[in-house]
Amino acid sequence: MGGRMRILVTGGAGFLGSHLCERLIADGHEVICLDNFFTGRKQDIASLLGNPSFELVRHDVIDPYKYEVDQIYNLACPASPPHYQYNPIKTIKTSVMGAINCLGLAKRLKARVFQASTSEVYGDPQVHPQPESYWGNVNPIGKRSCYDEGKRCAETLFFDYHRENKVDIRVVRIFNTYGPRMHEADGRVVSNFIVQALKGEDITVYGDGSQTRSFCYVDNLIEGFVRVMAQTETVGPINLGNPGEFTMNELAELTLKLVGGRSKIVHKRLPADDPKQRRPDISLAKRLLKWEPNVPLEEGLKRTIADFRKRL
Ligand code: NAD
Ligand code: UDP
Repeated sequence: MGGRMRILVTGGAGFLGSHLCERLIADGHEVICLDNFFTGRKQDIASLLGNPSFELVRHDVIDPYKYEVDQIYNLACPASPPHYQYNPIKTIKTSVMGAINCLGLAKRLKARVFQASTSEVYGDPQVHPQPESYWGNVNPIGKRSCYDEGKRCAETLFFDYHRENKVDIRVVRIFNTYGPRMHEADGRVVSNFIVQALKGEDITVYGDGSQTRSFCYVDNLIEGFVRVMAQTETVGPINLGNPGEFTMNELAELTLKLVGGRSKIVHKRLPADDPKQRRPDISLAKRLLKWEPNVPLEEGLKRTIADFRKRL
């Protein structure tokens, strides 16, 4: 592999997908972006629409598709809890049938295929920080299960296609990622807090705010994606995320400090099965990819806030 490739990105109009499409085109590749626009928006890929190296297809990954491509990145799936819980049956179909369809295509084409898996496969983890070897603590019947179990099943499918059919897979477990172009109504914590602070509304911390997450700036993550696809040392799973760990109270206070304004921090009910702690062990990525995030939370938040200020 190497040189100019034709690359399919499912979910390419979403938050991570749009950044990935831009990066791949900047690297000289041709991109086919496939999306059903459930959470993705045309405006987020507007800068690519006139580009001869970019092609946009409206399609649902639940239905089979066929394109002649060299590589596939499978990102299609809503990622924010309110979005993936909006139609949970559709969410699990997207993960499972979406994986089967993209693996079938990768098998036929002998194309390398990337799965955007998630730290949610670790559930509410009892091992901290989480290494790839940890099997997780996931509720199979709760409100988050449509997403968590869908992603776990997709990982199973990737590894079975790899073992049975020699499909050239790469599985990445992504930890919370944020950055410019997150939707105002996405519902995830970073965008919620920034929008609330900018509008002078109450900042809604769920529960007592002592739960932790690790936040990775989007450019760092996308660099990790490209490195995972370029190497042949491992098929994964491989954690990608920023090991800096913050409580939601700390995130609320930092956002407020950076935005300024008069918002108050208020506490709301903690959603069911909300993981108590989350931090990636990225030793594998450091060793195999020579990859490590270099944008600290404060710096990444400043860039993200600047982007939201322009839009709101
Ligand atoms: P997003 O919601 O912004 O993007 C998802 C994209 O997939 C959207 O463009 C949406 O329209 C599209 N999509 C959804 N269902 C589809 C279907 N059935 N057919 C075709 N397209 C469909 O979310 P994101 O943050 O960009 O996440 C992208 C991927 O990365 C997801 O698979 C998500 O699970 C994974 N991930 C993201 C994070 C994160 O912190 N951003 C963390 C872990 C995993
Ligand atoms: N959260 C919060 N206020 C919000 C949105 C989320 O306190 O307005 C909390 C949520 O309960 C969770 C953390 O922030 O503990 C991260 O939530 P998010 O939905 O961003 O991602 P996930 O829970 O999937 O990691």
